[in-house]
Amino acid sequence: MPASPPSPAGGPPAEAPPPVAPSLPEGRSSAILRSPLFRAVAVIGGGIFVLAGSGLEASLASARVTPGAPAAAAPRCGPGSLPDDDICVHIPRDDEDGPAALARENAHRERSGAWRTYEQIPRRPERPENYDLYRFPVPPGMTGGRYVISGYDLDQPDQWQRRGARLRAIGHGGVDIPEVRGTPIHMVPLEHQQSDAEVVYAGPLFGTTVVLKSTLREAGAMRDYLILFGHLDAIAPGIAPGQHVPEGALVGNVGDTGSPELVHLHLEIRRVRDGVDAAAAIRTSGPGMVLADWVTIVCDPRNVLPLAR
Ligand SMILES: [Zn+2]
Repeated sequence: MPASPPSPAGGPPAEAPPPVAPSLPEGRSSAILRSPLFRAVAVIGGGIFVLAGSGLEASLASARVTPGAPAAAAPRCGPGSLPDDDICVHIPRDDEDGPAALARENAHRERSGAWRTYEQIPRRPERPENYDLYRFPVPPGMTGGRYVISGYDLDQPDQWQRRGARLRAIGHGGVDIPEVRGTPIHMVPLEHQQSDAEVVYAGPLFGTTVVLKSTLREAGAMRDYLILFGHLDAIAPGIAPGQHVPEGALVGNVGDTGSPELVHLHLEIRRVRDGVDAAAAIRTSGPGMVLADWVTIVCDPRNVLPLAR
């Protein structure tokens, strides 16, 4: 890496003298300094300092980058994290951790002609729009490493939501991932998940369906989400209400139950309303409670799916 050009000898500084650079631990400074995120936030000695303007960044870069040090490729890090050599370090934010997106109202016209309003949780703007940047419980089933053939559209105006003569539902509250019949579905923990997910339902709903409950840390509080895996060919052995499902565990296999000849995984994520015990509601009132307005709010899955690395 070329050295910074020296200042003109004896000449006046081109800019106001830079503030004194705070010290960074050696070894992690270069990766952090290369990050565009550094312009806004630097993690220094365990504290978080917000830096304004690019002058300090430039002075830090010239002061701290070790000449001759190999320029390791900084990883692309998601929101709330910074590159540190080849890994991403999460920035703890007690009050803002987790999805914490607000529910919004939308509406559409039912096929009966009735106008229906409903709540849904749209994608937070800082979450990538491209589905292929996320981790899913199955491999990409389309050419080019693509996953999703039909995405979440409940944040769209009525006329842009999914339509089709064969579809009973209007609008799509999940993502459809085409796959080969029998493809194993493995648990992917949601972001900010605090412990293993738990099975709350396994049986008919969207075809053969498994529903897991995952507790996330969200805005400093714990909130439950339901993860719905629909149209399964088979439910994995041991997947039954009350069972815990660690990362990587087999949930079931992709199929077309309830969706004849369209072999795909319908993956839907719903936030459980505060104070509601979704598992108890499902036990006492049946699997329809997964979708009941008073139990859950449908959510853009990109708010909580982990980003691919
Ligand atoms: Zn679907």
